[in-house]
Amino acid sequence: MNAAILINLAYIASAILFIFGLKQLSSPETARRGNLISSVGMLIAVVVTLLNQGIVDYRWIAVGVVAGSIVGIFAARTVAMTAMPEMVALFNGFGGLASLLVGWAALYDGRTSVFIAVTIFLSILIGGVTFTGSLIAWGKLSEKMNSRPMLFSGQQIVNSLLMIAIVAFGVLFAMDPTNVTWLYVLIGLSFVFGVMFVIPIGGGDMPVVISLLNSYSGLAACAAGFAINNLLLIVAGSLVGASGIILTQIMCKAMNRSLSNVLFSGFGSPKTGAQQIEGTVKPIVPEDAYYILEAASSVLIVPGYGMAVAQAQHVVKELQELLEKNGCEVIYGVHPVAGRMPGHMNVLLAEADVSYDVLQEMDQVNPRIENFDVSIVIGANDVVNPAAREDEGSPLYGMPIINVDKSKTVFVLKRSMASGFAGVDNPLFFKDNTRMLFGDAKESISALVREFG
Ligand code: NDP
Repeated sequence: MNAAILINLAYIASAILFIFGLKQLSSPETARRGNLISSVGMLIAVVVTLLNQGIVDYRWIAVGVVAGSIVGIFAARTVAMTAMPEMVALFNGFGGLASLLVGWAALYDGRTSVFIAVTIFLSILIGGVTFTGSLIAWGKLSEKMNSRPMLFSGQQIVNSLLMIAIVAFGVLFAMDPTNVTWLYVLIGLSFVFGVMFVIPIGGGDMPVVISLLNSYSGLAACAAGFAINNLLLIVAGSLVGASGIILTQIMCKAMNRSLSNVLFSGFGSPKTGAQQIEGTVKPIVPEDAYYILEAASSVLIVPGYGMAVAQAQHVVKELQELLEKNGCEVIYGVHPVAGRMPGHMNVLLAEADVSYDVLQEMDQVNPRIENFDVSIVIGANDVVNPAAREDEGSPLYGMPIINVDKSKTVFVLKRSMASGFAGVDNPLFFKDNTRMLFGDAKESISALVREFG
């Protein structure tokens, strides 16, 4: 058997491991194993690629490994849990940039058919858009730039012209790949297009944008795989591309919006017509909240971004155990876009060893929401905002929420009356059955725990 066949067989083995790994990632119970299986697949792929005689010089590879490891270790150690989504955005972006560079390098392979030129064009275009689009997503998420949609008149026309220019230069490049001027123009245009693509999208829609960019980074890798004729890059890129698109669809469904509405509607820009909020805010102190909780026989805990900020997950688990010891049923209601990244709440609750049996999704808790004696909203805001159900003028209108306002009593734990990520006021805080427990979530829950103790 010759070396090329052996290499491809090893790549197929890696691809199979990726697929099994991905499958296992779909459930929290098997996710760790899934990660491990995929890592083994990646190890095989890297070793086989390094043993391939096509490698010109290992010294550059060593430099890359050392530099990448230093940056990776530094990032993993220093990035706060709350900044994880921004980091994912950056990773997507650099994945796109890597594909762009691979596509560019393929130009010097000496294989200049029209097909190769088209794949190089695609890896540069999608990689470039992913790179700058992700940088903007990072800026909006980390609040280094204004997270509101940036809209200006004629935006659609500018974008259409950009697209026409990209196709035109793409055709010129495919006809004469040796003329690098077209290539440089294409790189520039794809960078500009990435920026134009993400600026009109508001911060509240960033989860969808990030999963879409994740999908793009996969497609860019897939195109780069065709450009350098690497089977595994094609397969791995397709897997990332497809899973990113599926996640994007799930997120859109969770917000009850179409993808085109997310991308093109300027959602989150200030609108007129939102209803005036009526009612008064009723604060509560931990001592009084304790008496209500002590008498409750069922409690729904709805965590949100503020739980991540306060790092309150461990004390929340303590409160759960105390309530259960008191004969109370405790369920966690997890909204698909709570926090700042898909699965954010699940990760935090898993870290605190909260059992999967008590975690329920929005669709599971909403039908029985009236039966909960108390809903404790811990640092969540947009995902429990009843304006999404009641107020047609609200930018959140139509987004499915956890209907905590329909439970008997609601405790909202947050530090102030500030709005959530979408920048929209929340009528929940003014409802008759709502009590505001102001303060840092960790401190408030600790105070409740002390009351039980
Ligand atoms: P929100 O961003 O709507 O609200 C979080 C609330 O937490 C704030 O109102 C804040 O109020 C409170 N808070 C912050 N720090 C603390 C603290 N230390 N203690 C107590 N409360 C605190 O969060 P949600 O989880 O409800 O909604 C997520 C939002 O983020 C959605 O709009 C979603 O679309 C968006 N998003 C989601 C992503 C995802 O993938 N899940 C990614 C990016 C965006 P205060 O300042 O008064 O304390």
